[in-house]
Amino acid sequence: MTNKKRLIGAEIPVTAAAFALLHRGGHLGDLPLPAIAALLLFVDAGNRLVRRAFSSERSVVHLHLRMATQQLGVGAIVYAIGWGPSLALGFLVMVADDLRVSGSRVWRAAAGWTVVAIAAGQLAIAVGGVASYIEEPGVHGLAALAALGTAFVIRLLGLKTAEVEREAAERGEVEAALSRSERRFRSLALNSSDVVVVTDAAGLVTYISPSVERLLGHAPEHYLGRSGLEHLHADDAAAAARVLEALASEPAGEVTVELRARHADGTFRWQEYMLRNLLDDPDVGGIVVNFRDITERRAEQERLTYDASHDVLTGLANRQVFQDRLGHALSRRARGHGGAAVLFCDLDGFKALNDRFGHAAGDQVLMEIAQRLRDAVRPADTVARIAGDEFTVLLEDLREPGEADTVARRICAALSAPVAVDGEELMVTMSIGVAEAHDADTVDALVAKADLAMYEAKNNGRAGIRRYEEANQRFLERFRLESDLPTAITRGELRLDFQPIVDTAAGDVAAVEALVRWEHPERGLLGPDLFIPIAEHTGSIIPLGRWVLEEACRVRAAWRPQRQDLVLCVNVSARQLREPTFVEDVRAALDAAGLPPRLLALELTESALIDTGRSLAVIEGLRQMGVRLVIDDFGTGYSSLAYLSRFPVDGIKIDGCFVAELGTASGYRMAKAIVELARGMDLWVVAEGVETAAQAAAVAALGCQFGQGYHFARPSHSFQPPAQPRPAHDVPAHDVDAGPPPPPPTADLVAAPSSGAPWSTA
Ligand code: C2E
Ligand code: CA
Ligand code: CA
Repeated sequence: MTNKKRLIGAEIPVTAAAFALLHRGGHLGDLPLPAIAALLLFVDAGNRLVRRAFSSERSVVHLHLRMATQQLGVGAIVYAIGWGPSLALGFLVMVADDLRVSGSRVWRAAAGWTVVAIAAGQLAIAVGGVASYIEEPGVHGLAALAALGTAFVIRLLGLKTAEVEREAAERGEVEAALSRSERRFRSLALNSSDVVVVTDAAGLVTYISPSVERLLGHAPEHYLGRSGLEHLHADDAAAAARVLEALASEPAGEVTVELRARHADGTFRWQEYMLRNLLDDPDVGGIVVNFRDITERRAEQERLTYDASHDVLTGLANRQVFQDRLGHALSRRARGHGGAAVLFCDLDGFKALNDRFGHAAGDQVLMEIAQRLRDAVRPADTVARIAGDEFTVLLEDLREPGEADTVARRICAALSAPVAVDGEELMVTMSIGVAEAHDADTVDALVAKADLAMYEAKNNGRAGIRRYEEANQRFLERFRLESDLPTAITRGELRLDFQPIVDTAAGDVAAVEALVRWEHPERGLLGPDLFIPIAEHTGSIIPLGRWVLEEACRVRAAWRPQRQDLVLCVNVSARQLREPTFVEDVRAALDAAGLPPRLLALELTESALIDTGRSLAVIEGLRQMGVRLVIDDFGTGYSSLAYLSRFPVDGIKIDGCFVAELGTASGYRMAKAIVELARGMDLWVVAEGVETAAQAAAVAALGCQFGQGYHFARPSHSFQPPAQPRPAHDVPAHDVDAGPPPPPPTADLVAAPSSGAPWSTA
């Protein structure tokens, strides 16, 4: 308002012209023209001075000062020229300009000083100071009316100006608010990391904010005038078109979608699009789309869902996923889509492996097993790791009855190659339980049945496969055996069979192994595989093992006159080794039979040796007594060959499975390596499970001094040692105990110093 210019237009020349005309007609008062001109200039200068002096001041005093100089100046002029109150309009001209320039606030001061100026003029007339064309006293009445009229008009103008100002102020506020929000919107659109797009109903881009370049690498021009759908992933474009179409027909509708957009570098980035239909909004007239990059968030989400459904170590599915898939498979089967089966696989002795080689090695084994399992099944099948060393396999779309067993066998075969860990080759086996969909109708029941089958497989010795029906049968039988076993010993239902161990070169019997049997009153003769694991599990193995030792020693002592040197081999369980009285028990059995300790060899499995830290002390105790020690089933446990040097044993028995594999190149190499190593360490070597003459010849050729197996003789309760060694080929395999007493030995192998093996009792 203050910067408005005062009018210096036509007023002054017009006034000057009017004054000149009045002067010519002699109607410009008594004063000479130069005096009037001087008065005009003086008033004008005074006004300018006052205004300039207080140009920046807005106080009431300054306002009045200004109005006073101005209106008194005008008064001085109109009264000087003799027309006084009849020229009251002159006051209004100035005030109107003041209102325009300074606003409504001036009106009260202006009206007041106008009245004062008129009063002063009238006073001058009354005292005869100035002349007047209008006679007294009429001029005073006119002055009163002029003052009143002028003041009213000024008031009216002032109020009107105030109203205009109020309206302007209101309009100003609205405009200011509008421009603020517009500025804010513009800066948001330009600077936000979100991209703002406006398209028409068909998706044609009419506006796109510059931030698109930061997100997708292209400048806005790349998108303008083209369909937004063009830049989407081919798999998303159709869905996006449907979304757009639906939105376009829904005024003010909103929708949020996640789609992949092509980046300038050719890759696709996940974007979250928020679309709003503002086609009906006159200011927009389009579909407004906000989008931002969510590639990282998607990746994180995907990682989380993967982690939640997969085992971190092996990358296999986890229990949750397995159960879900099994649930699907069962419902598919219910709709007639082919059979399904669950294999429950549990590593044998994994805890021992972990303890011995450490957890890192354990993890390595688990990863390798996971890979082999995956390779052994079809891609459509599911392999999961559901606990430490427990894996489950879901087989689907099975067509033939035996298919699940075939896969289980394939898995076992896949594990037959050793696992390399830290430069050592470990043999790892699994026990597998097989349950088929018809065994149960819920997920949990089917897994539980496969688990039970696995448990049975494990009880039956490592590396076994069990089907559920069979396992269940066994389970019940086991349960019965378990309760019968403790009384079997006291009722005299146990008996021992003996199987000879034969010198492969000379053919004579060098030792016998005692093998326990149970003559069950209802179930007939039971082999040790059926009840030894139960006895180990329940602890009955302690009295049972003690009985075997005593009985074997007693029987062996009874043969003494015939064969002074025949070694007696007795199997010992890990559990027995842990028994604190074990060394004393052995001594007591030997003493009771009157048998020298050198004639007793205890057969221990590799796992029995590893099993307990105490075994070394026990083994020392036994050796001090003079008892022999042999590693049984060599090659089937985890123990590496290095183990041989840690335990002071006398010999090893190579497991029958190696003998059975002698025909294959790898089986042959494996057996040969074991024999050479053992012989190099001065250990005697027995090949177990020799069933044919060819195998007997092969193990002899490999350098095994001793062989045991059906080819030489089956275990027999009525076994009698031959009085003297005889050639192996003379002995019919099935006829050891039925045959006539053999001729006396021609050479005392066991005592022969020439053998040089620890087998020697010398
Ligand atoms: P093992 O110590 O490996 O015993 C050898 C097993 O192989 C015996 O089975 C024997 O009958 C069998 N066998 C012998 N020659 C051949 C052959 O040519 N071919 C085949 N296929 N098998 C042959 P058995 O008597 O059933 O004993 C099984 C296992 O039970 C034994 O395996 C041993 O680990 C355990 N066992 C037997 N008696 C006792 C015992 O008194 N105490 C303990 N703790 N375990 C025992
Ligand atoms: Ca044995
Ligand atoms: Ca054995």
